[in-house]
Amino acid sequence: MLFRRVLLLAILAPMLNAAPPPLDDATRRLTRDIYKQLIEINTTDSIGNTTTAAEAMAVRLRAAGFPPADVQVLGPNPRKGNLVARLRGSTNQKPILLVAHLDVVEAKREDWSLDPFKLTEQDGYYYGRGTSDDKAMASIFIANLIRYKKEGFVPKRDIVVALTADEEGGNFNGVSWLLTEHRDLIDAAFAINEGGGGRLKDGRRLYNGVGASEKVYVTFALSTQNKGGHSSVPRADNAIYELADGLTKLAKFQFPVALNEVTRTYFERMSKIEEGPIAADMAAVAKGDPAASARLSETAAYNALMRTTCVATRLEGGHADNVLPQSAKAIVNCRLLPADSADEVRNTIIKVLNDPGIEVAWIDRPKPSAPSPLDAAVMGPIEKMTNEFWPGVPVMPLMGSGATDSLYLRNAGIPSYGVSGLFGELNDSRAHGRDERVGVAEFYDSLQFLYVLVKRLAS
Ligand SMILES: [Zn+2]
Repeated sequence: MLFRRVLLLAILAPMLNAAPPPLDDATRRLTRDIYKQLIEINTTDSIGNTTTAAEAMAVRLRAAGFPPADVQVLGPNPRKGNLVARLRGSTNQKPILLVAHLDVVEAKREDWSLDPFKLTEQDGYYYGRGTSDDKAMASIFIANLIRYKKEGFVPKRDIVVALTADEEGGNFNGVSWLLTEHRDLIDAAFAINEGGGGRLKDGRRLYNGVGASEKVYVTFALSTQNKGGHSSVPRADNAIYELADGLTKLAKFQFPVALNEVTRTYFERMSKIEEGPIAADMAAVAKGDPAASARLSETAAYNALMRTTCVATRLEGGHADNVLPQSAKAIVNCRLLPADSADEVRNTIIKVLNDPGIEVAWIDRPKPSAPSPLDAAVMGPIEKMTNEFWPGVPVMPLMGSGATDSLYLRNAGIPSYGVSGLFGELNDSRAHGRDERVGVAEFYDSLQFLYVLVKRLAS
């Protein structure tokens, strides 16, 4: 069946879709210039500025012929500007929204082997803070918008690009602010964002990932109180021991395994890429085999995909070396499966602790994030194009264990997909770390992939 489908696609694809224009030197140069410009504008929360980056992109778009009304820089604060640009379509079908964040996490020169705020090309890689997270997508979206404009491409639906502030932190999240203040500007049928991307293993393409879901972040404070006293006369009741007993119970507890559409498809498809017993367990897990999920749970990354997790991350207690502790407190950070209720998770923790002396308080309220449906209108073109670009490489739906701005979009009713066609080594992700980098060849592949994908999705 699969073979026949692939064969059919291989025959039909060239007939249905003309090949994209080849990547000429001028386009390469333009995209690299934009990338370099964005990397070299510091957009960290501490001393950086996303407005400068947003304005720089606005200048390029206006110069390419976009009317000023369709290129706006707006924000709640002079340092936290967001760019919203629109290529008008021929119908009033809801637009497609392309989102990338302009801000980057901090990077210290002394921690890096190169200047993080200079784009350096070396050994087949582009180095610099933001090269992968998320200025590759930001530059590619702008370069492609300019390409569409130059070639006179008129999509069916509007293509809206939003380059935003404070995804990584800071108090002025651009996507959230735009949804609240200027919903009309970024309203869309669906969005493309970070959170996906292709994975390589030793240079071999494993899969083209599509982020369709994210776990939900919730934190609790567990605390105990005690009347204390002199440590020379210890008693059986003790705030530190009481809390420690509770934490030991929590350490041994596991939330139940529950797969959703995204993670079930993930394990099914991964079982065809992996080898040996892991592959067999992945196939069995997708069918609901508890013994297989127990074995797979021993790998932390797979465990996190299958269940809600809660883990102690901080601990404090007592106030002097010679005094019985009057209080102890632990922070427990939970990552919920999208379908789990935070109230129920809290109730489960209370049940596991089984001690009314341990208070379980909310540190932050969850922002729920329903998975985006693996809708054929979006997934179909992604699968087809992946097969045209990289024959035989599967598309892999992903559930992130962290959060992106897709959270806000999904909550606002705009399904969001993390897709870039930007491949990177599975075990060498340097986003947020030192010497962040992206492969030069992979960067231009992603440029072409998104050029065609957005065109098809908007046509
Ligand atoms: Zn990011």
